[in-house]
Amino acid sequence: MAFPHRDSVPRAVDLLGVLLVPAPDPASVVRVLRDHGEPDVRLSAADVAELHAAAVELREVFAAPDVASAASVLNRLFAAYARPPRLTDHEEGYGWHLHADAADDGPWGPWLVTSSALGLASLLAERQDVPGGLCASPSCGKPFAHTGGGSPRRYCSPRCATRERVAAHRART
Ligand SMILES: [Zn+2]
Repeated sequence: MAFPHRDSVPRAVDLLGVLLVPAPDPASVVRVLRDHGEPDVRLSAADVAELHAAAVELREVFAAPDVASAASVLNRLFAAYARPPRLTDHEEGYGWHLHADAADDGPWGPWLVTSSALGLASLLAERQDVPGGLCASPSCGKPFAHTGGGSPRRYCSPRCATRERVAAHRART
């Protein structure tokens, strides 16, 4: 059994990766949604603009320097976007799970904010620490989540970690 709140965290990270650019490519957004089990999505220009605005708000959770700041950003997002929690079993393979947006076919912006915020809040409560961060590579800065154990990460991907290690090595020699 998959846990949608945990699934919503990697989905948020992947969506922010394509949405946090000046002009998000609708096809890339649709591809990420499809990769995360939202089939046959059609997005208007207004939908993409709404998702972009939601991504900018969610980025603040990843930019928060400590757990208390991350929690207050999440609480602010819940206050602004969430509706009373409701249980639903409409999604194939997930069983009963919580939603906090207005409706199953509601607008994209509040959907992205509330589904991601629920997942990030669960992860924060589980870790008792920030749920994620922003890539320490100056040329990247993409969000990443602290899922999986191990030492805290600083980079979004092995590729960024390697690039910065090579750059630091070059700077020394
Ligand atoms: Zn990176």
